Amino acid sequence: MNHNSKLITILIPCYNEQESLPALFGRLNAVMDSMPDYRWEVLTVNDGSTDSTLAMLMQMHRRDSRWHYVDLSRNFGKETAMLAGMDYAKGNCVVIMDSDLQHPPEEIPRMISLWEKGYDDVYGVRRQRGREPWIRKKLSLMYYRILQKTTRIPVLQNTGDFRLLDRVCIDALTAMRECQRYTKGLYCQIGFKKASFEFDQQDREAGQTKWNMRSLAGLAVDGVTSYTTAPLRIATVMGLVVSAIAFIYMVWVFAKAAIYGDPQAGFPTIMTVMLFLGGVQLLTLGILGEYVGRIFNEVKHRPPYFVREVDGEKATAYRSK
Ligand code: UDP
Ligand code: MG
Repeated sequence: MNHNSKLITILIPCYNEQESLPALFGRLNAVMDSMPDYRWEVLTVNDGSTDSTLAMLMQMHRRDSRWHYVDLSRNFGKETAMLAGMDYAKGNCVVIMDSDLQHPPEEIPRMISLWEKGYDDVYGVRRQRGREPWIRKKLSLMYYRILQKTTRIPVLQNTGDFRLLDRVCIDALTAMRECQRYTKGLYCQIGFKKASFEFDQQDREAGQTKWNMRSLAGLAVDGVTSYTTAPLRIATVMGLVVSAIAFIYMVWVFAKAAIYGDPQAGFPTIMTVMLFLGGVQLLTLGILGEYVGRIFNEVKHRPPYFVREVDGEKATAYRSK
Protein backbone atom coordinates (compact mmCIF):
# COMPACT_ATOMS: atom_id res chain seq x y z
CA MET A 1 0.00 0.00 0.00
CA ASN A 2 1.34 3.38 -0.99
CA HIS A 3 1.19 5.83 1.89
CA ASN A 4 1.00 8.85 -0.39
CA SER A 5 -2.13 7.54 -2.01
CA LYS A 6 -5.41 9.32 -1.48
CA LEU A 7 -7.61 8.44 1.46
CA ILE A 8 -11.26 7.80 0.70
CA THR A 9 -13.81 7.92 3.49
CA ILE A 10 -17.06 6.02 3.12
CA LEU A 11 -19.60 7.56 5.46
CA ILE A 12 -22.57 5.41 6.45
CA PRO A 13 -25.23 6.48 8.95
CA CYS A 14 -26.79 3.42 10.61
CA TYR A 15 -29.95 3.22 12.62
CA ASN A 16 -31.22 -0.24 13.52
CA GLU A 17 -29.70 -1.91 10.49
CA GLN A 18 -28.64 -5.29 11.89
CA GLU A 19 -30.34 -7.13 9.03
CA SER A 20 -28.59 -5.23 6.23
CA LEU A 21 -25.11 -4.97 7.72
CA PRO A 22 -23.71 -8.43 6.83
CA ALA A 23 -24.45 -7.88 3.13
CA LEU A 24 -23.04 -4.33 3.35
CA PHE A 25 -19.79 -5.59 4.91
CA GLY A 26 -19.34 -8.13 2.13
CA ARG A 27 -20.12 -5.92 -0.83
CA LEU A 28 -18.23 -2.88 0.40
CA ASN A 29 -15.11 -4.88 1.26
CA ALA A 30 -15.16 -6.41 -2.22
CA VAL A 31 -15.27 -2.92 -3.79
CA MET A 32 -12.43 -1.65 -1.58
CA ASP A 33 -10.31 -4.72 -2.27
CA SER A 34 -10.75 -4.13 -5.99
CA MET A 35 -9.17 -0.65 -5.74
CA PRO A 36 -5.89 -1.11 -3.87
CA ASP A 37 -4.45 2.16 -5.16
CA TYR A 38 -6.43 4.07 -2.58
CA ARG A 39 -6.41 4.01 1.19
CA TRP A 40 -9.85 3.45 2.68
CA GLU A 41 -11.69 4.51 5.80
CA VAL A 42 -15.23 3.30 6.34
CA LEU A 43 -16.78 5.58 8.91
CA THR A 44 -20.05 4.22 10.26
CA VAL A 45 -22.14 6.43 12.50
CA ASN A 46 -24.36 4.56 14.91
CA ASP A 47 -27.34 6.85 15.34
CA GLY A 48 -28.63 5.47 18.64
CA SER A 49 -29.64 2.06 17.36
CA THR A 50 -31.56 -0.14 19.75
CA ASP A 51 -30.70 -3.46 18.09
CA SER A 52 -27.29 -5.12 17.69
CA THR A 53 -26.07 -2.63 15.04
CA LEU A 54 -23.41 -1.16 17.35
CA ALA A 55 -22.09 -4.58 18.38
CA MET A 56 -21.76 -5.54 14.72
CA LEU A 57 -19.95 -2.31 13.85
CA MET A 58 -17.55 -2.84 16.78
CA GLN A 59 -16.86 -6.36 15.64
CA MET A 60 -16.18 -5.17 12.10
CA HIS A 61 -13.77 -2.55 13.47
CA ARG A 62 -11.83 -5.25 15.33
CA ARG A 63 -11.71 -7.51 12.28
CA ASP A 64 -10.78 -4.96 9.62
CA SER A 65 -8.69 -1.87 10.35
CA ARG A 66 -10.40 0.05 7.55
CA TRP A 67 -13.68 0.07 9.46
CA HIS A 68 -14.35 2.71 12.09
CA TYR A 69 -17.37 3.79 14.05
CA VAL A 70 -18.72 6.86 15.82
CA ASP A 71 -21.36 6.07 18.41
CA LEU A 72 -23.80 8.92 19.04
CA SER A 73 -25.39 9.35 22.47
CA ARG A 74 -28.92 8.83 21.12
CA ASN A 75 -30.90 8.88 17.90
CA PHE A 76 -30.41 12.29 16.29
CA GLY A 77 -31.81 11.54 12.84
CA LYS A 78 -30.01 10.90 9.60
CA GLU A 79 -29.21 14.52 8.78
CA THR A 80 -27.38 15.07 12.06
CA ALA A 81 -25.73 11.64 11.90
CA MET A 82 -24.28 12.67 8.55
CA LEU A 83 -22.94 15.90 10.06
CA ALA A 84 -21.23 13.90 12.80
CA GLY A 85 -19.70 11.64 10.17
CA MET A 86 -18.45 14.62 8.16
CA ASP A 87 -16.85 16.07 11.29
CA TYR A 88 -14.90 12.87 11.89
CA ALA A 89 -14.09 11.95 8.29
CA LYS A 90 -10.40 12.27 7.42
CA GLY A 91 -10.50 11.42 3.71
CA ASN A 92 -9.51 13.51 0.70
CA CYS A 93 -13.03 12.81 -0.36
CA VAL A 94 -16.09 11.35 1.35
CA VAL A 95 -18.60 8.97 -0.20
CA ILE A 96 -21.95 9.06 1.62
CA MET A 97 -24.23 6.07 1.30
CA ASP A 98 -27.13 4.39 3.09
CA SER A 99 -26.54 1.24 5.07
CA ASP A 100 -29.56 -0.57 3.60
CA LEU A 101 -27.80 -1.12 0.24
CA GLN A 102 -30.30 1.02 -1.64
CA HIS A 103 -27.14 2.69 -2.88
CA PRO A 104 -25.09 0.01 -4.65
CA PRO A 105 -21.44 0.14 -3.46
CA GLU A 106 -20.40 -1.11 -6.90
CA GLU A 107 -20.97 2.45 -8.20
CA ILE A 108 -18.15 3.83 -6.06
CA PRO A 109 -15.37 3.27 -8.66
CA ARG A 110 -17.37 5.30 -11.18
CA MET A 111 -17.81 8.12 -8.66
CA ILE A 112 -14.11 8.13 -7.88
CA SER A 113 -13.17 8.33 -11.55
CA LEU A 114 -15.40 11.42 -11.92
CA TRP A 115 -13.74 12.90 -8.83
CA GLU A 116 -10.32 12.24 -10.35
CA LYS A 117 -11.47 14.20 -13.39
CA GLY A 118 -11.81 17.23 -11.17
CA TYR A 119 -15.41 17.24 -9.97
CA ASP A 120 -15.97 18.17 -6.33
CA ASP A 121 -19.52 16.92 -5.83
CA VAL A 122 -20.50 13.73 -7.66
CA TYR A 123 -24.13 12.87 -6.96
CA GLY A 124 -26.30 9.94 -7.86
CA VAL A 125 -29.55 10.39 -9.72
CA ARG A 126 -32.10 7.60 -9.34
CA ARG A 127 -33.20 6.00 -12.57
CA GLN A 128 -36.19 4.51 -10.81
CA ARG A 129 -37.36 5.17 -7.29
CA GLY A 130 -37.69 1.52 -6.31
CA ARG A 131 -40.76 0.23 -4.57
CA GLU A 132 -42.63 3.21 -3.19
CA PRO A 133 -46.31 4.08 -2.91
CA TRP A 134 -47.63 5.93 -5.95
CA ILE A 135 -49.04 8.80 -3.91
CA ARG A 136 -45.66 9.40 -2.27
CA LYS A 137 -43.97 9.70 -5.66
CA LYS A 138 -46.58 12.21 -6.85
CA LEU A 139 -46.36 14.27 -3.65
CA SER A 140 -42.59 14.34 -3.85
CA LEU A 141 -42.71 15.53 -7.46
CA MET A 142 -45.18 18.30 -6.60
CA TYR A 143 -43.12 19.36 -3.60
CA TYR A 144 -39.94 19.84 -5.60
CA ARG A 145 -41.78 21.81 -8.26
CA ILE A 146 -43.17 24.25 -5.71
CA LEU A 147 -39.88 24.54 -3.84
CA GLN A 148 -38.03 25.33 -7.06
CA LYS A 149 -40.51 28.12 -7.88
CA THR A 150 -39.65 29.94 -4.67
CA THR A 151 -35.87 29.97 -4.82
CA ARG A 152 -33.02 30.85 -7.14
CA ILE A 153 -30.82 28.03 -5.91
CA PRO A 154 -31.43 24.97 -8.10
CA VAL A 155 -33.31 22.19 -6.35
CA LEU A 156 -32.33 18.75 -7.52
CA GLN A 157 -34.98 16.09 -7.86
CA ASN A 158 -34.50 12.37 -7.57
CA THR A 159 -31.14 12.80 -5.94
CA GLY A 160 -30.60 11.43 -2.50
CA ASP A 161 -27.62 11.31 -0.25
CA PHE A 162 -25.64 8.93 -2.43
CA ARG A 163 -22.74 11.14 -3.37
CA LEU A 164 -19.04 11.75 -3.31
CA LEU A 165 -17.83 15.03 -1.86
CA ASP A 166 -14.36 16.46 -2.13
CA ARG A 167 -12.65 17.74 1.02
CA VAL A 168 -13.51 21.34 0.06
CA CYS A 169 -17.22 20.46 0.07
CA ILE A 170 -16.96 18.64 3.40
CA ASP A 171 -15.26 21.66 4.95
CA ALA A 172 -18.01 23.90 3.56
CA LEU A 173 -20.80 21.63 4.81
CA THR A 174 -19.34 21.25 8.29
CA ALA A 175 -18.93 25.02 8.53
CA MET A 176 -22.72 25.29 8.42
CA ARG A 177 -23.72 24.27 11.92
CA GLU A 178 -27.48 24.70 11.87
CA CYS A 179 -29.31 22.16 14.01
CA GLN A 180 -32.31 21.60 11.80
CA ARG A 181 -30.43 20.46 8.77
CA TYR A 182 -31.75 19.92 5.31
CA THR A 183 -28.61 18.54 3.76
CA LYS A 184 -30.10 18.28 0.29
CA GLY A 185 -30.49 22.04 0.27
CA LEU A 186 -27.00 22.55 1.66
CA TYR A 187 -25.42 20.58 -1.18
CA CYS A 188 -26.91 23.06 -3.63
CA GLN A 189 -26.09 26.01 -1.40
CA ILE A 190 -22.34 25.35 -1.32
CA GLY A 191 -21.90 25.22 -5.10
CA PHE A 192 -18.57 23.82 -6.40
CA LYS A 193 -18.13 21.71 -9.51
CA LYS A 194 -20.89 19.14 -9.72
CA ALA A 195 -21.32 16.03 -11.82
CA SER A 196 -24.15 13.53 -11.78
CA PHE A 197 -24.31 9.86 -12.56
CA GLU A 198 -27.32 7.59 -12.86
CA PHE A 199 -27.91 4.54 -10.75
CA ASP A 200 -30.72 2.08 -10.16
CA GLN A 201 -32.02 2.42 -6.66
CA GLN A 202 -32.32 -1.03 -5.17
CA ASP A 203 -35.04 -2.11 -2.86
CA ARG A 204 -34.13 -2.08 0.78
CA GLU A 205 -31.92 -5.06 1.63
CA ALA A 206 -33.79 -5.84 4.84
CA GLY A 207 -35.64 -4.15 7.65
CA GLN A 208 -37.91 -1.17 7.18
CA THR A 209 -37.61 2.42 6.14
CA LYS A 210 -37.53 4.83 9.07
CA TRP A 211 -39.59 7.39 7.25
CA ASN A 212 -43.35 7.57 7.46
CA MET A 213 -45.68 10.17 6.00
CA ARG A 214 -45.43 12.27 9.15
CA SER A 215 -41.66 12.43 9.33
CA LEU A 216 -41.55 13.09 5.59
CA ALA A 217 -43.92 16.02 6.05
CA GLY A 218 -41.62 17.31 8.80
CA LEU A 219 -38.62 17.05 6.48
CA ALA A 220 -40.60 18.86 3.78
CA VAL A 221 -41.30 21.78 6.14
CA ASP A 222 -37.63 21.82 7.17
CA GLY A 223 -36.77 21.94 3.50
CA VAL A 224 -38.92 24.96 2.77
CA THR A 225 -38.03 26.93 5.88
CA SER A 226 -34.30 26.34 5.59
CA TYR A 227 -34.21 26.98 1.87
CA THR A 228 -36.38 30.02 1.40
CA THR A 229 -38.24 32.79 3.16
CA ALA A 230 -40.79 33.04 0.35
CA PRO A 231 -43.73 31.87 2.51
CA LEU A 232 -43.26 34.95 4.68
CA ARG A 233 -44.09 37.04 1.66
CA ILE A 234 -47.46 35.31 1.33
CA ALA A 235 -48.78 37.52 4.14
CA THR A 236 -47.69 40.68 2.37
CA VAL A 237 -49.18 39.62 -0.94
CA MET A 238 -52.45 38.46 0.60
CA GLY A 239 -52.69 41.65 2.62
CA LEU A 240 -52.26 43.74 -0.52
CA VAL A 241 -54.80 41.75 -2.50
CA VAL A 242 -57.40 41.73 0.27
CA SER A 243 -56.99 45.47 0.93
CA ALA A 244 -57.38 46.27 -2.76
CA ILE A 245 -60.55 44.20 -3.02
CA ALA A 246 -61.91 45.69 0.21
CA PHE A 247 -61.29 49.20 -1.08
CA ILE A 248 -63.14 48.60 -4.36
CA TYR A 249 -65.95 46.94 -2.45
CA MET A 250 -66.15 49.89 -0.06
CA VAL A 251 -66.48 52.39 -2.90
CA TRP A 252 -69.20 50.26 -4.40
CA VAL A 253 -71.11 49.96 -1.09
CA PHE A 254 -70.94 53.72 -0.46
CA ALA A 255 -72.07 54.52 -3.99
CA LYS A 256 -74.94 52.07 -3.78
CA ALA A 257 -76.08 53.42 -0.39
CA ALA A 258 -75.87 57.02 -1.62
CA ILE A 259 -77.90 56.36 -4.77
CA TYR A 260 -80.43 53.72 -3.67
CA GLY A 261 -80.28 53.79 0.13
CA ASP A 262 -79.35 50.58 2.00
CA PRO A 263 -82.15 48.33 3.20
CA GLN A 264 -79.92 45.21 3.70
CA ALA A 265 -78.74 43.95 7.08
CA GLY A 266 -75.58 42.51 5.48
CA PHE A 267 -75.06 39.72 8.00
CA PRO A 268 -73.92 37.00 5.52
CA THR A 269 -71.38 39.29 3.86
CA ILE A 270 -69.85 40.33 7.17
CA MET A 271 -69.74 36.74 8.37
CA THR A 272 -67.93 35.38 5.28
CA VAL A 273 -65.45 38.24 5.14
CA MET A 274 -64.70 37.87 8.85
CA LEU A 275 -64.18 34.12 8.64
CA PHE A 276 -62.06 34.42 5.52
CA LEU A 277 -59.82 37.08 7.01
CA GLY A 278 -59.60 35.19 10.29
CA GLY A 279 -58.42 32.13 8.39
CA VAL A 280 -55.85 34.09 6.42
CA GLN A 281 -54.55 35.70 9.60
CA LEU A 282 -54.18 32.39 11.41
CA LEU A 283 -52.44 30.84 8.41
CA THR A 284 -49.88 33.62 8.11
CA LEU A 285 -49.38 33.58 11.86
CA GLY A 286 -48.65 29.87 11.59
CA ILE A 287 -46.10 30.41 8.83
CA LEU A 288 -44.47 33.14 10.88
CA GLY A 289 -44.44 30.75 13.82
CA GLU A 290 -42.57 28.09 11.85
CA TYR A 291 -39.75 30.53 11.24
CA VAL A 292 -39.75 31.93 14.76
CA GLY A 293 -39.59 28.39 16.13
CA ARG A 294 -36.59 27.66 13.97
CA ILE A 295 -34.87 30.87 15.06
CA PHE A 296 -35.51 29.84 18.68
CA ASN A 297 -33.84 26.48 18.11
CA GLU A 298 -30.85 27.92 16.30
CA VAL A 299 -30.03 30.83 18.64
CA LYS A 300 -29.55 28.39 21.51
CA HIS A 301 -26.39 27.32 19.70
CA ARG A 302 -26.51 23.85 21.12
CA PRO A 303 -24.10 21.32 19.74
CA PRO A 304 -26.06 19.39 17.10
CA TYR A 305 -25.07 15.99 18.53
CA PHE A 306 -23.14 14.27 21.30
CA VAL A 307 -20.72 11.40 20.87
CA ARG A 308 -20.44 8.53 23.30
CA GLU A 309 -17.53 6.69 21.81
CA VAL A 310 -15.21 6.59 18.79
CA ASP A 311 -13.52 3.29 17.88
CA GLY A 312 -13.72 2.13 21.48
CA GLU A 313 -12.33 5.37 22.91
CA LYS A 314 -14.70 7.24 25.17
CA ALA A 315 -15.33 10.69 23.77
CA THR A 316 -14.08 13.17 26.37
CA ALA A 317 -16.28 16.04 25.33
CA TYR A 318 -18.20 17.33 22.40
CA ARG A 319 -15.77 17.87 19.58
CA SER A 320 -16.41 21.36 18.39
CA LYS A 321 -15.37 22.50 14.99
N1 UDP B 1 -30.85 6.63 9.37
C1 UDP B 1 -30.18 7.21 10.46
N2 UDP B 1 -30.91 7.79 11.47
C2 UDP B 1 -32.28 7.82 11.45
C3 UDP B 1 -32.94 7.25 10.34
C4 UDP B 1 -32.20 6.67 9.32
O1 UDP B 1 -28.95 7.20 10.51
O2 UDP B 1 -32.88 8.34 12.39
C5 UDP B 1 -30.06 6.00 8.29
C6 UDP B 1 -30.45 4.57 7.97
O3 UDP B 1 -29.79 3.65 8.78
C7 UDP B 1 -30.04 4.45 6.52
C8 UDP B 1 -30.27 5.85 5.97
O4 UDP B 1 -30.30 6.72 7.10
O5 UDP B 1 -28.67 4.14 6.38
C9 UDP B 1 -31.55 5.94 5.18
O6 UDP B 1 -32.63 5.54 5.97
P1 UDP B 1 -33.89 4.79 5.36
O7 UDP B 1 -33.43 3.66 4.50
O8 UDP B 1 -34.78 4.46 6.50
O9 UDP B 1 -34.53 5.93 4.48
P2 UDP B 1 -35.04 5.78 2.97
O10 UDP B 1 -33.99 5.02 2.20
O11 UDP B 1 -36.32 5.05 3.04
O12 UDP B 1 -35.17 7.21 2.51
MG1 MG C 1 -33.33 3.29 2.56
